[in-house]
Amino acid sequence: MIAPMGNFALQALMREAAVTLDRSRCVRHRCTANACTRCIDVCPTDSFTWTKGGLQINPDTCTQCLSCLSVCPTAALASPGLSLPQVLADLAQHRLPVLGCKGQPGSDAHVRISCLGYLAHPELMTILALVFPEGLQLNLTACDECPNGHILDGIVTAHGRLHGSVSNHAVKLIRDKKDLEYAAATLSRRQFFLLFQERTNRAAVTMVKRLQDNIEQKTYGKKQIPEIRALLLKAMSASTAARKESIKEQQFGKITFTSDCCHSERCVGVCPTGAIRSSRMSNSPPVFDQTLCTSCFSCQAFCRNRGVVLSDNSQIPLVTKREQGL
Ligand code: SF4
Repeated sequence: MIAPMGNFALQALMREAAVTLDRSRCVRHRCTANACTRCIDVCPTDSFTWTKGGLQINPDTCTQCLSCLSVCPTAALASPGLSLPQVLADLAQHRLPVLGCKGQPGSDAHVRISCLGYLAHPELMTILALVFPEGLQLNLTACDECPNGHILDGIVTAHGRLHGSVSNHAVKLIRDKKDLEYAAATLSRRQFFLLFQERTNRAAVTMVKRLQDNIEQKTYGKKQIPEIRALLLKAMSASTAARKESIKEQQFGKITFTSDCCHSERCVGVCPTGAIRSSRMSNSPPVFDQTLCTSCFSCQAFCRNRGVVLSDNSQIPLVTKREQGL
């Protein structure tokens, strides 16, 4: 017999999860030697805790700032209903697109996500710069008054890093309303899209179509690169060799096998993305593919001999509670 469900249990089931966790992709769940605390450190409301049962998220205290998504190296965290390819496609329908947030519905925006804190992810910011070479405005005009205003530092940092890898990009952070160029769409989406295709920013439409077309998330067994990395690699494929190299050097991790490497290839198994693969030779270190490395540190943490060293080029902006004075 099924016991009657109390109101509290029912409410708990019905409560919408602000952020979801896929434990099979969380590096700390996958590799016990990896003491990754990025989501715990970045969350301003202490909504993450590490317990005997693993990582827990408290949906009651989460304010959906999405900062945790921007620092997770393997995209183990997700925001239900947020589809990056769809966001890009919707933005590409506007001549001078404006991205805003759902938390401030009074602000001007063509497309909204639950919080712009998601954009603190350097790879995501780079995708925006590559896909919208003719311009994209991020509407941050209401952030100063918003309870999630702490996200600004991460966004400014990720945006600042763009100058090194995508010179002459046209992604603008709009902090003052008078700087915003916003034209509300008066046509239907279909009409606007047809008009848009005829006369304007073809580059963005073409790029988005290419990105949506068969996003190649390389998989090796249970290994998978995050969707953001898959999209970035695709967006980079249309870039010059120099730009590709610059993005790779500035944003992707790089590992070195030291003379202490015993060639046991245990790191091959622990790498969640397939960035390290067997050399199939007993006296050689494994083969490393920098384009797949997301700087999760698992290989370095797992190697007992200190045979692997990671140079974390990603410099994912970790805004810790300590730094925020919380
Ligand atoms: S190579 Fe190392 S740091 Fe890079 S994704 Fe694989 S396990 Fe993580």
